[in-house]
Amino acid sequence: MTVRNCMPRYVNIALPVPAGKLFSYHVPDTVSGPLVGVRALVSFRNRELTGVIVEELAAPPTTPTKPVIELLDETPLFSEALLRFTRWVAEYYFCSWGEVLKAALPPGMVPERDATVCLLRTPTEEELAALEHRAPKRAAILRLLMQHAGPISVGYLTRQLHSESLSAQLQALEHQGYIALETRAPALPRARTLRALELAEELRSEPERFRTLMEHLQHRSPAQARLLSVLYAHAAHSTAPLPLREALRRSQTSTTTLRHLLQQGYVREVTLEAPENVLEADEPRLAERNELLLPLNPEQDYAVRRIAEALEAGVPKVFLLRGVTGSGKTLVYMHAIHIALEHKKSVLVLVPEIALTPQLIDRFRMAFPQRIAVLHSRMSPGERFAAWRAIRRGDVPIVLGARSAVFAPLPSLGLLIVDEEHEPSYKQEDPAPRYHARDCAVMRAHMEGAVTILGSATPSLESMYNAHTGKYHLLELKQRADGARLPSIRLVDLRDARRQHRLRGNFSDELLAALQQRVERAEGVILFHNRRGFARWLQCPDCGYIPMCAHCSVSLTYHKVPKLLRCHYCGYSTPVLEECPQCGSPTLEEIGSGTQRIEEELHELLKTAFPQLRIARMDTDTTTRKGSHRRLLHQFARGDIHVLVGTQMVAKGLDLPHVTLVGVINADMQLFLPDFRASERAFQLLTQVAGRAGRRSDAPGEVLIQTAHPEHPVLVAVQTGNDELFYHDELQHRKAALYPPFTRFVVVELSGVDEEKVHQHAHFFASCIPPHPAVLKLGPAIPTVVRIRNRFRRVVILKNLKPLDPAAHHLRSVLRTALAKYQRRYAVSSVRLTVDVDAYGML
Ligand SMILES: [Zn+2]
Ligand SMILES: [Zn+2]
Repeated sequence: MTVRNCMPRYVNIALPVPAGKLFSYHVPDTVSGPLVGVRALVSFRNRELTGVIVEELAAPPTTPTKPVIELLDETPLFSEALLRFTRWVAEYYFCSWGEVLKAALPPGMVPERDATVCLLRTPTEEELAALEHRAPKRAAILRLLMQHAGPISVGYLTRQLHSESLSAQLQALEHQGYIALETRAPALPRARTLRALELAEELRSEPERFRTLMEHLQHRSPAQARLLSVLYAHAAHSTAPLPLREALRRSQTSTTTLRHLLQQGYVREVTLEAPENVLEADEPRLAERNELLLPLNPEQDYAVRRIAEALEAGVPKVFLLRGVTGSGKTLVYMHAIHIALEHKKSVLVLVPEIALTPQLIDRFRMAFPQRIAVLHSRMSPGERFAAWRAIRRGDVPIVLGARSAVFAPLPSLGLLIVDEEHEPSYKQEDPAPRYHARDCAVMRAHMEGAVTILGSATPSLESMYNAHTGKYHLLELKQRADGARLPSIRLVDLRDARRQHRLRGNFSDELLAALQQRVERAEGVILFHNRRGFARWLQCPDCGYIPMCAHCSVSLTYHKVPKLLRCHYCGYSTPVLEECPQCGSPTLEEIGSGTQRIEEELHELLKTAFPQLRIARMDTDTTTRKGSHRRLLHQFARGDIHVLVGTQMVAKGLDLPHVTLVGVINADMQLFLPDFRASERAFQLLTQVAGRAGRRSDAPGEVLIQTAHPEHPVLVAVQTGNDELFYHDELQHRKAALYPPFTRFVVVELSGVDEEKVHQHAHFFASCIPPHPAVLKLGPAIPTVVRIRNRFRRVVILKNLKPLDPAAHHLRSVLRTALAKYQRRYAVSSVRLTVDVDAYGML
């Protein structure tokens, strides 16, 4: 027996709080085994929080520590490699390690026991004013509670007030009878279980013994032999047990047969956490064949061989796979995955949005049955929990998921694929970590010695630049694999059409004629219009009044089904006004068009000629229900729907051979957004949409783009297919204006309910930024949308010159200095400050 000393074990824990430091706790010495990478429930100020142990200390810390309440895992959830990677993410994106670890875990795996605060008595203005002088923190808490209708969590209050702890203040307020504190218990997700079978160890490890047994059983009990051979074959390519139902199905045997084998000890039954979310029974399959068996064309073959070389050499190369739509990038991915698996490596595949890529998922499932886990935002916490653990154990070698799957705990990662790498949805906007999953994937691959493939028909400027400078290796697929020709693209000048009265509503005569022709021939049509709702806004023709959101400084969008005015920023909605509240005018005009209006106009225009015409709309309003997107696609593919009208959703993941016409209702909407990425996004979106046409060799596709600016360089590039010219010009432009990829674009946003205060804070923060040759400062500026969800906003922009600061060290030190100085003045404040490194989107 060993004699234990009574010293506890000391650990550092990363907690999901904004403070950029670790917190020390202790664990009794009776706990054995590794602690680093294990989740721990600890008490932290007024709350119980879950953090991850990231370090075991050799000596006790100088300050006294509290004990860990509960260790939540028997074995580490995070490997050393994953801890290293998540720490890099925290440093680069300027947030806490605990926040990254929380984002890495599926929701529900970071339980919190958080107290909530509710207001019992509203203070009078005098009381509040008195409190403001004596105890500003308490006053701020009361003000926040008064702004909210219901109870607020302590965690939220702490974050809002940028405070380390509010316990003293809350106790005082409770004592004074203003508030009540309540504690809720966290709910832990439960994993779904599944019965599974595996061959007895001696039969697996001794083939001779297996063969003898099989010879013996072949005649006496063929059913038993069949079941054993199914399990043997499964064990040859997987270490995971085979689900019981699957084993019985494949061997066509009954539970009686199984019982005999279990009794004789040839087979073992185990309980598995269900690793894979299977398709719902009523969901149609969108792929029918295993494409891995299809031959590669020479371009694909060349790409696969280059990738195979890197996989064999085990060097962390990054490939930019640039292939026109229909060139068969997916087939290249599949072969690369196959090779990685042969090398006993695991594979991570990132897609922009799982819900929008049902077709891709089905194709992967056909190629790699039973070996792929899909991480889906619509999975229950229990399902995700089970999937995460199965991945961590190495049961499933392929993981497919959206943004946050970049943190999937795959052991021995060999290959990362980022499909549609240019998609903005890879960037997380809010909350922290505000990371870019593509860039993180490249870094993770670099750290783990894995190969990366970034795929796109229209790569981002960043990736094209990296390919030009040799940082990435460019692989090109210029031919369409299906032998189809690229569609012909025509620009329709809306100015001419209007002048010559050849415009009916949003439809030019050219577009209408092309549409009618396709409908007659029973070919599919996609109409792209990147705005949902019916009208962009309502406006009073007499006084000019426009209904605005009550919480944001944006106009409300008019929706006809259901009849509502809606804010697309915060979701606020209100019934449609019957008359102008300002002047009483009885009508409000519908200004601008959304997908609902396009659908309605088209219906009106074609209903006499084609009474049977079926038009469907695909946007976030029509695809909220689980499986609705998949069903719409299926109906469209079958020809039950003739015309699909949609937002940018129709630009993605659709591979429908019967579509021969794509119409863009108004390209100008994309061209003139107040965003330095507007041209890039327009080029990508329009090219992607155009690529939906003519994916069949016998029926060439046609694309009609309606615009009032046919001379715009983006449209010229889309029409002529001259991508190179576009990328060249756009890079020149970005370089001159000091935008990415030449700089890191960093947005510091300050927001709060009191505009004057936000303004002051923004000016003070800007003045805290020390001058540095690698960091240019702009602002504070007033953003395009000045108020969102009742909070007024100001932004300070930093442009970090990459050539002078390749690893962003100077940027971080400048930001740290500024924040420290800012927080010395405004330690307690209702103004929120967020830092977004490599910011995307509009301001
Ligand atoms: Zn009016
Ligand atoms: Zn709003």
